[in-house]
Amino acid sequence: MNFDLTPEQEAVRKMVADFTAKEITPFAGEWDKEEKFPWDVVKKMSQLGIFGTAIPEEYGGAGFDAISHAIVAEELGKGCSSLRGCYSVQVSLVTKTILSFGTREQKQKYVPGLAAGQIFGCFGLTEPDSGSDAAAMKSTAVLDGDEYVLNGNKMWITNAGISEVFIIFAKTDKSAGARGITAFLVDKDTPGLSTKDIHEKLGLRASNTAEIIMEDVRIPKSAVLGEVGKGFRVAMATLDNGRYTVAAGCVGTAQAALDYSKKYALERIQFGKPIAQHQLVQQMIADMAVDIECGRLLVYKAGHVKNVGGRSTKEVCFAKYYTSEMVNRVTYKAIQIFGGYGFSGEYPVERLYRDARINTLYEGTSQIQQLIIGNYETGVSAFV
Ligand SMILES: Cc1cc2nc3c(=O)[nH]c(=O)nc-3n(C[C@H](O)[C@H](O)[C@H](O)COP(=O)(O)OP(=O)(O)OC[C@H]3O[C@@H](n4cnc5c(N)ncnc54)[C@H](O)[C@@H]3O)c2cc1C
Repeated sequence: MNFDLTPEQEAVRKMVADFTAKEITPFAGEWDKEEKFPWDVVKKMSQLGIFGTAIPEEYGGAGFDAISHAIVAEELGKGCSSLRGCYSVQVSLVTKTILSFGTREQKQKYVPGLAAGQIFGCFGLTEPDSGSDAAAMKSTAVLDGDEYVLNGNKMWITNAGISEVFIIFAKTDKSAGARGITAFLVDKDTPGLSTKDIHEKLGLRASNTAEIIMEDVRIPKSAVLGEVGKGFRVAMATLDNGRYTVAAGCVGTAQAALDYSKKYALERIQFGKPIAQHQLVQQMIADMAVDIECGRLLVYKAGHVKNVGGRSTKEVCFAKYYTSEMVNRVTYKAIQIFGGYGFSGEYPVERLYRDARINTLYEGTSQIQQLIIGNYETGVSAFV
């Protein structure tokens, strides 16, 4: 077993780490306070080719492997979880989904622009009344001649307010449950489609999150992504990619919290010595370091399974469940190490702590990950 990164993976890490240190980390606190989506920096990410890192060369990407893809998310997660989320949705939930399920025409129409960061995309699964139970969605797509007519609302959709292309899931057969769902590609300027930004979130305040409203949105039959009635499969396969970069982002955010904590613990003097010399502070730092390393190994193991072409659902669930809980434990301890100063906006650990909270909620809550893992372990599904 070889744990070394390849020269290519090391180069990706250095490129994104340098960019994050220079262009993201120093400003992430301001974006958070102002709830500002940093378009100028996102454009620089596009110019650097970050959105195309793990996209095949024939579509303008760099063609790098799954572990490089995780490394990008990990490094972005150190600086700003909002931008890591933008990257995850753009690449894992949208571009890779079109690559897996799109027709030749759909891939040619959307993937080069997405890989170059010239256009952005979003993934609309969740609705006001259906989150974990996605199959209970109410949005409908009714065939009328050569067109589908979409109606309904999507809730909490990352990137929706900045996107040119929307992956939308809707019921083409209301009586068929999960087997009645179809995925569609909808262009932003289609009449009847609108978005409404959501503000005052606990964290990810520099990320765009919006509601999608669909009122008689007419799209051609050719906008079906995958097959009619197979949309639930598209959604679940997509989440194997999405959860993977969420997990990698958690590792990055936790590592940043540990790095800030170590620096502070060496500088802060109490009882006549740096707090790093107090054994109980060392205990917290040791627990944080081990927790992060366990999470990183789970992410890279899932990446290895993806690289060799296997189904990665189980490994990704392990990684997503563990790292999303881990980043909450680690950022909690970071605040503890900073004492009262950690409770203020003066140090970045306060933002990391708030940003960490989303990870056990989206792309399948921790409870949903436990049920999927439980199913793998016992052979019995709790969903039926
Ligand atoms: C900032 C943000 C960004 C998001 N981005 C997107 C996006 O881009 N696209 C998208 O489609 N969605 C997105 N979401 C939605 C997110 O995926 C959902 O919030 C998540 O799936 C949970 O659904 P819910 O909020 O409806 O909670 P619910 O499903 O109502 O769950 C509430 C609680 O009940 C528990 N629960 C539910 N069912 C079970 C069960 N069977 N067994 C045990 N416990 C259960 C849950 O674990 C949770 O603790 C985003 C959400 C947020 C907050």
